[in-house]
Amino acid sequence: MSTSETVPFGDAPDLRVPTQKSFTRTSLGGRILFGEGALYDLAHELDNARFRRAMLIVSSNQVVLTQRSREALGGRMALEWNEVRQHVPVELADRCGASAANADIDVLVAIGGGSTIGLGKAVAVRSALPLVVVPTTYSGSEMTPIYGLTTGREKQTARDNAALPQIVLYDPMLLTTLPASIVGTSGLNALAHCAEAIWSSSADPITDSLALEGAYRLQRYLPAAYGSTDVSARGQVLVAACLAGTALGTVGTSLHHALCHLLGGMLDAPHAETHAILLPYVIRYLQPGIPDAIERLADAMGSRPDRLAHDVWSLAQAVGTPPGLRAVGIKEGQIEMVTAAALDKGIASPRSLTHEALQALLHAAWSGEAPHPG
Ligand code: NAD
Repeated sequence: MSTSETVPFGDAPDLRVPTQKSFTRTSLGGRILFGEGALYDLAHELDNARFRRAMLIVSSNQVVLTQRSREALGGRMALEWNEVRQHVPVELADRCGASAANADIDVLVAIGGGSTIGLGKAVAVRSALPLVVVPTTYSGSEMTPIYGLTTGREKQTARDNAALPQIVLYDPMLLTTLPASIVGTSGLNALAHCAEAIWSSSADPITDSLALEGAYRLQRYLPAAYGSTDVSARGQVLVAACLAGTALGTVGTSLHHALCHLLGGMLDAPHAETHAILLPYVIRYLQPGIPDAIERLADAMGSRPDRLAHDVWSLAQAVGTPPGLRAVGIKEGQIEMVTAAALDKGIASPRSLTHEALQALLHAAWSGEAPHPG
């Protein structure tokens, strides 16, 4: 036999086979429909599930989407809620929940970005009503049982299966109205989900596959989705966001999300932009502590471990990420407050944290400078 017959993929086989560590996983439930025009399958889906009286949650700043959502629901709409805010203030969830309770509805339908979905999740947890979601950004929140609430200056997240939508309809046509600046940062938010899933201590081969495929699609299609309203490119990134959310929803978050939540809760930093700015610096910091995870992520994205932080930073710049935390209203003097809060909370990190290291990470993210090669 010639060498080409015995080695079908060309290279010599790698005989160093790592042992698979044992794992336990509980897969998350839920039905997914993906397709152009899927919004108009909503009525059929609700009827099949025997839901009759829906509360529509859609943001007041989405005029066209609101109109389309009403049409898609038709006579099943019993109540409409339009007040939506990022990071879901607890008093907003209280008021929305009280409205739902008074209206004899049997399903919540949230149509919008992560903020709208987040409000739907908070109300679903309080009311035990089923939730149906049509996402219009790349937040991936629809795939996770994680929900956040903000009280004063503190954002807290919790997991509850009641927050997990029963049905998700992905309609890439709805993403064609998303402004390029949000496409870019929301796509980076999805990449952060993939990254944290890969380096999570509870990662398993299934979450790895989802997260690595998500990262591949983001690196490949996000620039095209940012550069035009092409429905195929925007749809590919939507699939990536679904994969990213599914992976993260199973394993949970660590350093990167914890820092973003602190910045969001304490300083009202905008969610997707903060993720997009911070991710390269978190990768750079964690790299020496998690070489295997970084190597696999770099491989999936066509990068190299020592260049990954820089390449993610370049991708973020190419899709319009603001140049550092300073560009989203964070003051240099506030870095110390966030560092102290992070250490005080004892946030989980795959590489141990010191005051000095965390301050350096946040300072680099604040200035927006290119991360040094590893
Ligand atoms: P967002 O929902 O606040 O949307 C950003 C802006 O884009 C808003 O003005 C919105 O009206 C607009 N928009 C949304 N879709 C649009 C469309 N198709 N066309 C035009 N404009 C559109 O932002 P986001 O980044 O999607 O969500 C952020 C929130 O989601 C945060 O509160 C965050 O904590 C939460 N989140 C939660 C999870 C989770 O798993 N629980 C995951 C990611 C994000």
